[in-house]
Amino acid sequence: MRLFPAILLFPMLLLLCGSADPGTVSVSVLKWKGGAAAAYTIIHDDLCNPSASGIHRYADTIAYNRGIRFGAGAIVGSCVRKGEPMWMIMERMVRHGHEILSHSWSHGAAVDLGRGGADWDVDRDVVMTKKVIEENVPGASVLYMIFPYDAYNDDRLEELKHHGYLGSRSGRRMYNDRGVVVDFNNYDPFRSNLFDAFVSKEEQEQLLAGRDSSPVSIYDNINDDIEIQHIDAAIGAGGWSIQELHAVDDEQPWGWGRMGVDRYRTLLDYVSDNVERGLLWVEPPTTVLRYIMTREHIDGPHLVDGNALTFALPGGVDARYATEISVEIRTGRDVSSVTGKQGDKTITARKTGSRTFVMDINPVFGNVVLTFS
Ligand SMILES: [Zn+2]
Repeated sequence: MRLFPAILLFPMLLLLCGSADPGTVSVSVLKWKGGAAAAYTIIHDDLCNPSASGIHRYADTIAYNRGIRFGAGAIVGSCVRKGEPMWMIMERMVRHGHEILSHSWSHGAAVDLGRGGADWDVDRDVVMTKKVIEENVPGASVLYMIFPYDAYNDDRLEELKHHGYLGSRSGRRMYNDRGVVVDFNNYDPFRSNLFDAFVSKEEQEQLLAGRDSSPVSIYDNINDDIEIQHIDAAIGAGGWSIQELHAVDDEQPWGWGRMGVDRYRTLLDYVSDNVERGLLWVEPPTTVLRYIMTREHIDGPHLVDGNALTFALPGGVDARYATEISVEIRTGRDVSSVTGKQGDKTITARKTGSRTFVMDINPVFGNVVLTFS
């Protein structure tokens, strides 16, 4: 009888200690989380404003049902007027993974647009909008600014940095900010976030008819499909497409850039199809810009002694940008699994090819010791 435990213990020990020789190992950071070809973000502007109806009634649920998280830019003074019911709605959106962004207090222009001066107060539009949302919406963290009318200048961007924001939807120059983010060598989370805005073909023809308007979209809207073109452009370039949307509604006839409910479902089906095919990584804006910042600035991963991954984030980079990045581990020989130990945490890599694995690692939690078996 005494032999029994020993007999059982022996193969268990073998299993625990059994590591395989992986041959020559190499590691690299993947451009986008999970190895997707491109990144994509939806931002609904004007949350709490009646003209942007349906964001919480339709968009929230349609996106949540497909596992898609978006950003929503709140006009915070309007949210305050709606009061408690709106905070509860926004709390549900945050629970669904959506990110609440600041879209100023009352949609004033941050720089003079020639309509009687700027309507911007840093304490109100930058500091108070962040504070009021964070105090009233459990779980919300406001780190990203959507400038009303896409109007900003360098001083406005510096104020955001000073007051704890991590990014904004702004290109290098006001009104020259449409496109796909493809230049990551000099990526600036306040100056590189190009985007495109949605309007239907019908609305665009009405909007632009007889009116000197800044270009709404960089795409030709001849086939009424600019939102699809913006996704395809990201995949084609391996870049990041940010899609500006507003209302999602059929009943309300008004609202700049309103998208019908069925059209929104079609868009999100297209998005989730591309996610399943490994072509798109879809997250709210701050999640994506954190990935870019970590990926672009990290020193490492370096493979030491064949099994330890070491990292360093340069001191000049705000640690709040640090996030989980996908590291590809290529082995020289076939192994069945790769696991990592980071402090007390065990991380299991996903096998993505005969000799390739992907492990998601947040480098701020320290070095990772790999085991191959
Ligand atoms: Zn707006």
